[in-house]
Amino acid sequence: MLYNAISKVSPKVFEILEREEGRQRGNIELIASENFCSPAVQEAMGSCFTNKYCEGYPDVERLGNRGRYYGGCQYADELETYCISQWQKVFRTDYHVNVQPHSGSQANLASYQAVLKPGDKIMSMSLDEGGHLTHGSTVNASGKLYQIYPYHVGANGYINYDEMHHLALEVKPKLILAGASAYPREIDFERFAEVASEVGALLMVDMAHIAGLIVAGVHQSPFGYADIITTTTHKTLRGPRGGIIFCKPELAKKIDSAVFPGTQGGPLMHVIAAKAVCADEALMPEYTNYIRNVVYNSKVMAAEFKRMGYEVVTGGTDNHLFLLDFSRTHPDLTGLDVQTMLDYYKITLNKNCVPGEWRSPKLTSGVRIGTAPMTTKGWNAQQFINCAHYIDEIISGGK
Ligand SMILES: *Cc1c(COP(=O)(O)O)cnc(C)c1O
Repeated sequence: MLYNAISKVSPKVFEILEREEGRQRGNIELIASENFCSPAVQEAMGSCFTNKYCEGYPDVERLGNRGRYYGGCQYADELETYCISQWQKVFRTDYHVNVQPHSGSQANLASYQAVLKPGDKIMSMSLDEGGHLTHGSTVNASGKLYQIYPYHVGANGYINYDEMHHLALEVKPKLILAGASAYPREIDFERFAEVASEVGALLMVDMAHIAGLIVAGVHQSPFGYADIITTTTHKTLRGPRGGIIFCKPELAKKIDSAVFPGTQGGPLMHVIAAKAVCADEALMPEYTNYIRNVVYNSKVMAAEFKRMGYEVVTGGTDNHLFLLDFSRTHPDLTGLDVQTMLDYYKITLNKNCVPGEWRSPKLTSGVRIGTAPMTTKGWNAQQFINCAHYIDEIISGGK
């Protein structure tokens, strides 16, 4: 980007932008939740739709011009309607779609508010084994408003579905949540749906990380199984920072009113424009190709670490990320140590808890590695293998 106008008005911001762009170009980016969105997505985010207030919804057929609280929304209506229909095409679904959540966290909190009352019980994945902050952390509204019952992974690092089943029978939760931020294996949504239906719970799937894999057909789809599905658009989907909620048609009204006016005001129409562009990109055959490469590269890189004697959680990966566990191979090293050492060599990743973690989340005994961003930059499997060797050299104190 040129940033011509910014350079005149705000030299300080211009200078910071240039340095950040340099960092993004120059560094090896292995953070599993990040990606590099296209110039088309960035143009949409920088567009004039940022100026428009559109509180309400664009259901012109049903509501005419009564759906919005402001005049001048005709193009915004067209845009949001298009965005919704493109996302239905991307996931080949007739689920209701709400494209207004400002982020994945907003999508989750609105979903809870749509179907739960404070004090209701949620069963979700244990946070130190891969669950997300918004799945019931005590420092998040989800953990303050609802009673959280975590299910766990077994000693092999895979979700313990039998334990989850027994816990559901015992707890009788109102909602079961499947989905994670740091889980390297395919999630069996069908099994979750069986358990939810047996105990009369709603099933919510948070596919923030794996949404792109579901689009490409390399991960089981939650559509048809889940009552509510939330996602981010900036991870494997490679779009703008934002969230989307999908739900069964009978929950549409509850979900819509929980997003607006329940938890948000005006939608970010420029981001909705970018979400529409992102959907158009995801519908292209190149996108499926890209995701297949992401998963292939992840498997190859994880296998190379294993070959070099590292402990890969669950022994490998089915998706775009994997976890290294240093607790047995390098007991003196924390995840934070590794993150800091690699930062010095411009390799960016994040520390991560590992199953059975005994260190604090600020230190941890592992790291998470994802292949989505560097695959976008054009890396092939050999380059990821080379990178595994650089990381090994740095960790082993070579250089
Ligand atoms: C990233 C993530 C989110 C939250 O996304 P934000 O846009 O950062 O709020 C929610 N759930 C899961 C599983 C995630 O990985």
